[in-house]
Amino acid sequence: MRRHTLSRRALLGAAAALPLAHAARAAAPMMGPSSATHRRIALGDFEITNLLAGTAPREDPHSIFGLNVDDDTFAEVARDALLPTEVAQFFFTPTLVNTGETLVLFDTGLDPAGLTEALSGAGYSADQVDIVVITHMHGDHIGGLMGADGATFANARYVTGAAEFDHWAAAENDGFEAKMRPLAEQTTMIEPGQDAAPGITAVEAFGHTPGHMAYRIESAGKSLLIGADFANHPVFSLAHPDWEVSFDMDKSAAAATRHALLDMLAAERMPFIGYHMPFPAMGYVKRTEGGYAYLPESYQLRL
Ligand SMILES: [Zn+2]
Repeated sequence: MRRHTLSRRALLGAAAALPLAHAARAAAPMMGPSSATHRRIALGDFEITNLLAGTAPREDPHSIFGLNVDDDTFAEVARDALLPTEVAQFFFTPTLVNTGETLVLFDTGLDPAGLTEALSGAGYSADQVDIVVITHMHGDHIGGLMGADGATFANARYVTGAAEFDHWAAAENDGFEAKMRPLAEQTTMIEPGQDAAPGITAVEAFGHTPGHMAYRIESAGKSLLIGADFANHPVFSLAHPDWEVSFDMDKSAAAATRHALLDMLAAERMPFIGYHMPFPAMGYVKRTEGGYAYLPESYQLRL
């Protein structure tokens, strides 16, 4: 304490001796809320990096989650979880898996800029990516594939679900035509149960979109699920897996997928990454009465 007092007094003395212009210090600027844009963990012999490619508020979350419950029920669930009812924050979280031999990116955010900025912040460049896996073809997952200058990932090939590709290829969808169709020749279509790369296996998760798939990552006896959009909110999706979600194209298939995957994650005590979960978007699932609870990863995956 004594040292502190002395040095503070010395500092004040130094300030007094400065010319007036320097002595009149400006107030520190207000910076706005901030967040880290990457988080890296080890999983067996693999490294897994979550990248925050973007985040945005969405008004009226009840118009997204819980379409089949009334306003009072929605408000009560939000209030019990200390969440506002008028707005929810969405996160966009591509994941990079380095197997030691192959650098595999899962999904690409809304546009190339958000993703490449997070990539370089995490120590990578876009041309290092060997494989880009597309979990499904909504705009917030394929948006970073192509920019004004063409393909974002100069050296990559692509992997996606056959059912997903076929659906959008027949749908006359602008996003697909701009971002995915030009890459069709470099794209491998796979089925649930097949590998995108050694240790990376597709898991059926249909419902959100017709060919939406999750991916099980396994290395040296450790497992993690890249869940993509099977559950998009830590409370509204996990505590209430039967709540209908506006973005789910087949609502009952999506609910069945939520039950199946949440059940597996809880039973296996396996961590998962949720693309729209609050960053860093990694957590565990615990069974509760009538549903599940999300337990954000704290230090388990650092050890
Ligand atoms: Zn999404």
